[in-house]
Amino acid sequence: MTYWYPGLFVILDFITQNYPEIPIYIGGIYVKLCSEHLKYEIERFYRDFPIYIVKSDVEEFLEAIKKSFSPSGTPYLNDYPIFDMQTSIPYVIIMTSYGCPFNCPYCASKKLYPQFKQKNSEEVFEEILFWHKNYGIIDFAFYDDALLFNFDSHLALILEKILSCGLNLRFHTPNAVHARFITEDVAKLLKKAGFKTIRIGLERVENRFDNKVSIEEFLQAVSYLKTAGFKERELGAYLLYGIPDENFEEVKSSLLFLERHKIPPYLAEFSPIPGTPFFEITKQYSRYPIEEDPIFHNNTVFPALKKPDWKEIEKLKALARKIRHSICN
Ligand code: SF4
Repeated sequence: MTYWYPGLFVILDFITQNYPEIPIYIGGIYVKLCSEHLKYEIERFYRDFPIYIVKSDVEEFLEAIKKSFSPSGTPYLNDYPIFDMQTSIPYVIIMTSYGCPFNCPYCASKKLYPQFKQKNSEEVFEEILFWHKNYGIIDFAFYDDALLFNFDSHLALILEKILSCGLNLRFHTPNAVHARFITEDVAKLLKKAGFKTIRIGLERVENRFDNKVSIEEFLQAVSYLKTAGFKERELGAYLLYGIPDENFEEVKSSLLFLERHKIPPYLAEFSPIPGTPFFEITKQYSRYPIEEDPIFHNNTVFPALKKPDWKEIEKLKALARKIRHSICN
C-alpha cells in the first residue's frame, strides 16, 4: 500500500550505504500511484545514486532488464514469486489475472492495471502444480481483482485440470470475488475444486456508489454458494466504511442486513487512492494533507473523516465481530 513507503526508504538506505554503485529499480503500487512523491524523496536524499523508477508492466520490465544485464549465476527456474526464500511456506499467492474490467470510484485497480489481462490458464495450472509438487503446498490464495471474470474460458479450465489430476488442494479468495459471476454451475465447481474461503465484495447496502453488484445478485450468489455446499463460516462479505462523510448508521444497517442473511461481515477501512474520484472528495473532508504525504492514506487513521468518532468505530468493529462469531460458531 502507498502508506507503507517508509519501508522502501529503509531498504534504499541500506543498499545505497552498502552497495552505492548498484543500480536500483523501484516498481510497485506506491511507485505507480505516488511517483511524484517518490521522485521528490529521491531528489532530496538519494540524488547521487543510480536509482530508476519503473512504471511499466512487470513482464516488460523483466525483458528490458534481461537485455541490459546478463545473469550473474544460474538463472532461476521460472518467474514465479520466490516464496521458497521462506523457511516454510504456509500458502502460496496466485494471480491468474491483472486488473479488473470494472472501474469503481474508490479503487486502485484501473490505476495499477489500465488493461485487464488474464494469464494463460495452462500456465496458471503449471504454477499451482509447481508449488504443490515441489513444496507440498495445499493452500492457495487467489489475489486477483476479478477472478471469476470469463469464468468458463479461464478459471473453470484451471479448476477442471486440477480436478482431472486428482489434486487435493484448498483455495481462498481474500481479495473478494464478484457476486455477479457466481451462477449455480460456478458455485458447484468452486466447491468441487476445494474452495474454502469465499469473500464477496458488497461494500454497501444503501446508497451504493459502484455498479459491480446489485443486492439481488449478491443474495442470489450467496444462495447458490450455500446450495452448492459451502458452510456459512466459509463465506464472507466485505463492507467498505470510513468513506468521506461516512454515515455510520448505514454501516450498522449493512451489518444487520448481513446478519439477517447469515453472511459473515468483514469491515474494510477506506484508504484514499491517488487519481481516483474518491481521492478528490477525500481532500475536501480529510483532516490531513493527503496530497502531500502518502503516510496519510493509512486506513487505520480513517483519513477521509473530519472528526472520527472512535467510540462509534469501535462499536461497529465489535458488532461485526459479534455477528461473525454468532454465524460461524
Ligand atoms: S470491482 Fe473490485 S477490483 Fe474491480 S474496480 Fe471495483 S473495487 Fe476494484
